Amino acid sequence: MSNTRFQALQSVLNRTVPEIKAPSAKISEFYGANVFDKKKMKEYLSDDAFASVINSIEHGEPIQRDMAEQVASAMRAWAINKGATHYTHWFQPLTGSTAEKHDSFFEPTADGGAIERFSGDALAQQEPDASSFPSGGIRNTFEARGYTAWDPSSPAFLMGRTLCIPTVFVSYTGEALDYKVPLLKALTALDKAAVDVCHYFDKSIEKVNASLGIEQEYFLVDIALFNARPDLYLTGRTLFGHISAKNQQLEDHYFGSIPERVLAFMQDMETEALLLGIPLKTRHNEVAPSQFECAPIYEEINLAIDHNQLLMDLMDRVAKRHNFKVLLHEKPYAGINGSGKHNNWSMITNTGKNLLSPGKTPKNNLMFLTFFVNTIKAVYEHADLLRASIASVNNDHRLGANEAPPAIISIFLGSQLSEVLDEIETSRLSKKIKEENTLWQGIPKIPQILADNTDRNRTSPFAFTGNKFELRAVGSSANSASPMTVLNLIVADQLKKFKVDVDKLLKKGEKKDVALMMTIKRYLKESRSIRFEGNGYSEDWEKEAEARGLSNIKTTPKALDVMITEKTAELFESTAVFTPREAHARHEILLESYYKKVQIEARVMGELANNVIIPAAIAYQSKLVENVRGLKDIGLDKSTYQAQIDIITKLSEHINFVKNNVEEMVQARKNINNNVEDVRQKAIDYDEKVRSYFQPIRYHVDKLEQLVDDSLWPLPKFRELLFFK
Ligand code: ADP
Ligand code: MG
Repeated sequence: MSNTRFQALQSVLNRTVPEIKAPSAKISEFYGANVFDKKKMKEYLSDDAFASVINSIEHGEPIQRDMAEQVASAMRAWAINKGATHYTHWFQPLTGSTAEKHDSFFEPTADGGAIERFSGDALAQQEPDASSFPSGGIRNTFEARGYTAWDPSSPAFLMGRTLCIPTVFVSYTGEALDYKVPLLKALTALDKAAVDVCHYFDKSIEKVNASLGIEQEYFLVDIALFNARPDLYLTGRTLFGHISAKNQQLEDHYFGSIPERVLAFMQDMETEALLLGIPLKTRHNEVAPSQFECAPIYEEINLAIDHNQLLMDLMDRVAKRHNFKVLLHEKPYAGINGSGKHNNWSMITNTGKNLLSPGKTPKNNLMFLTFFVNTIKAVYEHADLLRASIASVNNDHRLGANEAPPAIISIFLGSQLSEVLDEIETSRLSKKIKEENTLWQGIPKIPQILADNTDRNRTSPFAFTGNKFELRAVGSSANSASPMTVLNLIVADQLKKFKVDVDKLLKKGEKKDVALMMTIKRYLKESRSIRFEGNGYSEDWEKEAEARGLSNIKTTPKALDVMITEKTAELFESTAVFTPREAHARHEILLESYYKKVQIEARVMGELANNVIIPAAIAYQSKLVENVRGLKDIGLDKSTYQAQIDIITKLSEHINFVKNNVEEMVQARKNINNNVEDVRQKAIDYDEKVRSYFQPIRYHVDKLEQLVDDSLWPLPKFRELLFFK
């Protein structure tokens, strides 16, 4: 009998570990070789054209047509020199992955020959047939047109023989259809608001940008085993599978020595990433078996996000060469840890100052406190929006599952800083202090905080780690642009309000430092309830958070409600990041994607149960029945085959349960599809009336897995997916 599971296991046994080739050159010699970066631009462009691109990168000024023409021909020359034949506008539609449509440089000439051409127009703008990308109805009302437009702030790069040009994706009517446009708008808002506030301290600051370092967790699984699991290749996660006898309980995987086959993959992947200028720095085993992490050095945020999107794509391609499949899903295996993507975020000025780095002098301390406390206040005011920005059907498995931060947004600061803030909050700015401006005697000293000295509270969704905040609730497969757009825009909005508040006090005649301090004190008081230093996984915290009035929305469809409230609309308007139409469109897209994903999982579950699991269980049951009949035939007493009868009965119980519940689940789906129009209601119903079948069905399938003869079980088991080498 052919059993795909055993064929797959055999393929893994036949694998040879690829020779680990150390890169022949030093990293510094090939880093960024496939990127048309500033250095190469300088080499290939006239001084004028170079200045124009730099001006556009730094000040967002549009690039003149003739300059674009020059840049295009320089890019083409560079790319063709390196063997490129095609170019593409590379963009990030709301599907979550990246998109590209390749065009050849080649153009036939009148005399029957051919030349390579790439015009400034082709660089600056393209019109992909975009009607199949999610738009939340934006494009339906007008023409089904979408445009990609060059984003000069992220450099072009070579993937194989294709020149990739990072672009934004907008509709004919100018609305954002991607992740990049809102991010860039949020960064513009942050820049303006933060520079204004910086001027209280330092008039020479002209620009503030956000920095981001993304830690990426992932699982690896042998490609043959992956292909023998339709649930994995159709949904990215296992819908069935009994937990392996050994999993992560010995805690022997985290930071353990990296298996050779995996190391070969990592080195290959790192080399490719480094060629693309992705500054990968760290690699290690993660908590769960077959789980790993890589992290680059932080970069300017727009680039960091492009690089992470590119990296996810790259990992997948390189893994295939090593007969691995990369699982970026947030929860590929029930019962062991899932994967996230820690977003380390900070704000940095054009003068190179990290605004979240506590300074040594009192003046720098006040500047640090200003940005620090405004970030806390921003998250306090818009915790629900931040929660919504990380919501997805996949991430719902992690949040609150005692392995990832809970769905309750809180902020962890560490004991040192918490104490300082408490003292500040309760200190009194007496009349004497105010008059004599001896402010610094009135507030406690901020200790020099070293990044590796800060407390590590892994249970907090938003933690301060010395000179940056770390948003830990982002899902491993997510585009970080979604939470980072929100974080930057809420901080921008908050800083704007801060300036208004401080200016009011200045008008009343308060001294500047006093006005700043009074506002900081007030914000600390107001935002107190979002600060939590304890164990975010505990039940006590759920109760306490409720008492504090913090939200704890566990599922995506409801978490998304906040995207279209009046408060959010005001915020979006004040920061000019989303129009109401765009916000509604995005809300709808996310809801739609939610229920469609549940729908797919439900279908796969039904098919696997009916066509794979139940037949395997029945095959085994038939063997037992035959055996019982034989024993009976030779005249043995019932007690000799009682065990078989017991197993036969149990098999029937589980088979019945699975069959009946799959039928009910199919019916529930039909009911929703036929009767529910409203997309929000549909998503909620899919969660409450379809997804609710998953756990019980799975439970009984996993019981069958434990009962059925191992040689008859068709799907690779958890122990094989996680440990088989
Ligand atoms: P871990 O959180 O695992 O201890 P690290 O603290 O070393 O890891 O850093 C995690 C990520 O944070 C890295 O990508 C690092 O480059 C990034 N990072 C460090 N400083 C900053 C900063 N000022 N802004 C943004 N990211 C930063
Ligand atoms: Mg971290």
